[in-house]
Amino acid sequence: MDNWKYQGPIFDAHTHIEELKNIDRMVRIEDQYGIAGQIGIVHSKDGFEYAKQRYSHRFIFAKYLSLNDIAHFNVDLVIDDINRTKDEGYSLTKTWFGPRWRDYIEDVPRDFRIDDSRLDPVFQALEDNKLPLLIHVADPDTYFRLHYKDASKYGTKEENLIQLENVLERHPKVKFQIPHFGAQPEIHRLSNLSRWLDCFPNVVIDTASSRWICRELSKDVIVARKFLLKYSRRILFGTDLSSNRDGLDYYDGRYRAQRVLWETEERDVPLPFEDDDTKDSGGTFINGLDLPSSVLDRIYWKNAMDLYGSLE
Ligand SMILES: [Zn+2]
Repeated sequence: MDNWKYQGPIFDAHTHIEELKNIDRMVRIEDQYGIAGQIGIVHSKDGFEYAKQRYSHRFIFAKYLSLNDIAHFNVDLVIDDINRTKDEGYSLTKTWFGPRWRDYIEDVPRDFRIDDSRLDPVFQALEDNKLPLLIHVADPDTYFRLHYKDASKYGTKEENLIQLENVLERHPKVKFQIPHFGAQPEIHRLSNLSRWLDCFPNVVIDTASSRWICRELSKDVIVARKFLLKYSRRILFGTDLSSNRDGLDYYDGRYRAQRVLWETEERDVPLPFEDDDTKDSGGTFINGLDLPSSVLDRIYWKNAMDLYGSLE
């Protein structure tokens, strides 16, 4: 490992577990970067069974709830699934409402909303089972500009966020991990994210997507740093790395990008891999926030232990 400011163990609160054959490779590379624990969002049954028996102390598993059933309000099926989740060896649940989910699931009702009251029993079941939910809503501002121009289909980013806010408000006893800095790492959105964290003590956010987070927080290091200091107990390090992606470079780039961001005071460091969203408009550069060691301890390790340590 390079000579980083932080030398302790790292918990990666956002990784994806795919087929069995790639799990060992993932763990081997992660070990080189100090990853000592992680949330694995499961995409493959074989991968899950293997990781569960081979690395039982390393992973905390998150189960994907059926988007298809949620989209069509098959609430009883979703609740049955939630009731089985812990017995199957998972400790968390996950849902993904990146706006393009509407392209992947057939016949999503045009007026579908995650705050539809018909879904309240689903959140109640999570509460009853004491199952935290990783809930991805919205996407980067850049995606709304580049890919989601059809607001009648995808909604505006604000419309997506407000639906999640209504859910948070209605379910104060469910623990929510909102990935990607609550989908609001853009500097102009941090004040709304602060308001959420102030209003909803049941919410934590993760730093997954090294690209998105580095790109946006680097745009105003003073504002970003202040935010990190203030909410240091509510932020979990995460990468969004997937076990199926190949090679050391892929992992190395994502870890290095975030470590430069959190730990250094370097300026204008090119993101170590390509950012599709900015490659035609000048690229993405990292400006380090030089966080104090006490804050690094929190976001890399302690917060995850406080929240999920008992689930292992
Ligand atoms: Zn992810």
